[in-house]
Formats: sequence, C-alpha cells, structure tokens
Amino acid sequence: MTEKNPSQKTVSSRQNIRKWLLIISFLLIPVTIFYISPIVAMMGAGKGIVTSAILLYILLFVVSLVVARLWCGWLCPMGAWQEICSPIFKHTVADGWRNWIKYGVTVLLFAMLAFTFISAGGIHAVDPFFGTVNGISITSFQILMIVVIIFLIIFAAAFFTGRRGFCHVLCPIAGLMVAGRKIRNLIGWPALQLDTAAGHCIDCKKCSNECPMGLDVNGMVRQGDMENADCILCASCADACPKGAITYGWKKK
Ligand code: SF4
Ligand code: SF4
Repeated sequence: MTEKNPSQKTVSSRQNIRKWLLIISFLLIPVTIFYISPIVAMMGAGKGIVTSAILLYILLFVVSLVVARLWCGWLCPMGAWQEICSPIFKHTVADGWRNWIKYGVTVLLFAMLAFTFISAGGIHAVDPFFGTVNGISITSFQILMIVVIIFLIIFAAAFFTGRRGFCHVLCPIAGLMVAGRKIRNLIGWPALQLDTAAGHCIDCKKCSNECPMGLDVNGMVRQGDMENADCILCASCADACPKGAITYGWKKK
C-alpha cells in the first residue's frame, strides 16, 4: 500500500496559495501589464526613459540569485494564463533546441534596449508609470486588443510546443533569471532549491505528471540532480510526491 507523505496536507494548501496568486495575477493584467511589458520598456527606451518593466527585470535578476525562476511559478501573469489553459495542453515541450530559443530572445531584447537608449542619447528619466493612465495599463479598446493578441500568441506557443511552452521557448526574461541561477550555482550560496532522497522514490511519476513545465522530474530524482534551467520552483512535484522523495527549501549548493 502507498504510504502517505505526512506533510501532504500542508503542501497541498501551498499549491492552493500558488494557484490563487496566479489567478489574482491574471485578473490584475488590466492594471499591471505595462509594468511587465517589453514593448512598453522599448517605447520608454526610445525616449530615454527607464520604465517599471526595466526596473522589474533588474529586480528579477537580483532575486533570481536566491530564488531562480520563482516569479514564473508563483506570480507571472503569462505563466498564470498558460496554467489556466493547461487542461488543453497535454504534451510536454521536447528537450532540445527549442529550449535554447529563449536565451536568444533575452539577448536580443537587452541588446535592442541598450541600442535604443544609446540612440535616444542615454537615460533622461525614470518613470515607473510610463504609458499608464492613473497607474492603469489597459485604458482603451485598442490597447485591450493588442493585449488579447499577445495572450493568443502565448496560448499558441503553448498549444504547439507543450505545457508552458511560452516559458520554455519564447519568454524574453527567462534567460535573465536562468543566468542569475547559474551564477548562484557557480558560487554556491544558500538558495531556494529542490532536493531529493532518491531511495524513497517508487517511480509512480506523480511528480512528472504534476510539473506545470512538463519536466521529467522522476528522471531528475533518479539521477539525483534536481537542478534544471526550466524549473520554476513551483513545488508541485514536492507536494505531489506520496513518499516525500522531493524536498523544497533553502539549501547550500
Ligand atoms: S520540477 Fe518541480 S518545482 Fe520545478 S517546475 Fe517542475 S513541479 Fe515545479
Ligand atoms: S519522486 Fe516522483 S516518481 Fe518518485 S515517488 Fe515521488 S512522485 Fe513518485
């Protein structure tokens, strides 16, 4: 008979909190989308203005030095949208070249931002509310349509490539957080991470089935290596494991 992980009750409430945070993040899109948008960041750069999106990217890089891609798993509205649609996406993103595209997108975005700032004569101002009306992002039908089209593209990315396909393949800021994690792994200071007691694993594959990124978590457990550039530290695998074979917490590398 399968033993119950004694902490499963607590951890399933952790997933409830995560899901609610993602739903709230999704519902707040009309307010927040300009604070995240690379398009608005580029528009600001064209006028030499540092917008909140750029401040957010700097913050996410700094934070990723200790929590990797936690933002993607718990707060990102684009991630939320893909998880809301996840019953439609049955397949997972295949390992390989597709997962590398996002690094090119990240480099391209930051090269374009640097070039645009230089063309504008440098940084003239910092305006966290750039483009908003009284702090609200979506204030016209035209903006609403642009946002709808962007979210349809995100849907299509996941539909054609697999679970959270946009996060795997196209997200322009994923590369920034992966870089932060790589630096931490190189130096080894304490950070949020997964760990495993592979001996407890019974190969039920619940962890892999629950992973919103569609990672082969069971394989990671078997290899004793839980580091994966596409892990968003959502803790779903740890919370699903009936044997407590996966732990989630602060650890030194
Ligand atoms: S490996 Fe675990 S923590 Fe990482 S994304 Fe998958 S379910 Fe979430
Ligand atoms: S680590 Fe994954 S496959 Fe192994 S027992 Fe836990 S849920 Fe099942």
